[in-house]
Amino acid sequence: MTLQDADGQDRTALAATLDASLQNLDLAGRLALAAETGHAVFTTSLGIEDQVITAAIGTHRLPIDVSTLETGRLFRETVDLIGETEERYDIAIRRFTPEQDDIDAYAAQYGLNGFYDSVEARHACCHVRKLKPLAKALAGADVWITGLRRGQSGNRASTPFAEYDAERNLIKINPLADWDIETIRAHVASEAIPVNPLHARGYPSIGCEPCTRAIKPGEPERAGRWWWENDEKRECGLHVPESAAEAIPRA
Ligand code: SF4
Repeated sequence: MTLQDADGQDRTALAATLDASLQNLDLAGRLALAAETGHAVFTTSLGIEDQVITAAIGTHRLPIDVSTLETGRLFRETVDLIGETEERYDIAIRRFTPEQDDIDAYAAQYGLNGFYDSVEARHACCHVRKLKPLAKALAGADVWITGLRRGQSGNRASTPFAEYDAERNLIKINPLADWDIETIRAHVASEAIPVNPLHARGYPSIGCEPCTRAIKPGEPERAGRWWWENDEKRECGLHVPESAAEAIPRA
């Protein structure tokens, strides 16, 4: 049976098997196993973890599609890093952008920066600028590779190496789940991997410009994301099942 033929139960079982196998491999081995499992897509935010993964894909010439969500609100430094990374590793990073009609409808309903006004408005913006483009990036994929790490936040503390994403019907692989930030930084330094200069200015986690601030010493890594919201489980919805999150309005 191919992965294409597998139902949710089969994919759940496969994810459990992969989860056990992946922990014994190095990063290149984990990515190679992900690619062997089926059509694999890696979505990069150009953050430091994602740069480590992109570097491994490019260096080892692994058959994994690299995609990014160009929301239209990214920092200039992030946009610049897309091209720099392509050149450095001789790869093409596919850009997925929001639909102009969706942006116009959002602006008419909430205002262009309406995401500051309510969680609902923020989720609606993330839906238009991130979730809908993500669905396009993952169309036809069997495996979704991410840079999630357990140390990024309490919400991600139990991130597995592999899990079945029932809503998207694909296997999600997190090859850096057990890497800590010190290991990431040491690897970036030893491999001279290009990273976003904003990391050195107090931004360990970088999203859209209007929704990201530098953190203060001692703050959690993701404290600078949507800092005006009080919910400790702030996420954009990419890595939270919609059925488990508060309803994310369809703008
Ligand atoms: S992070 Fe901010 S600007 Fe980016 S999609 Fe979400 S709400 Fe919109």
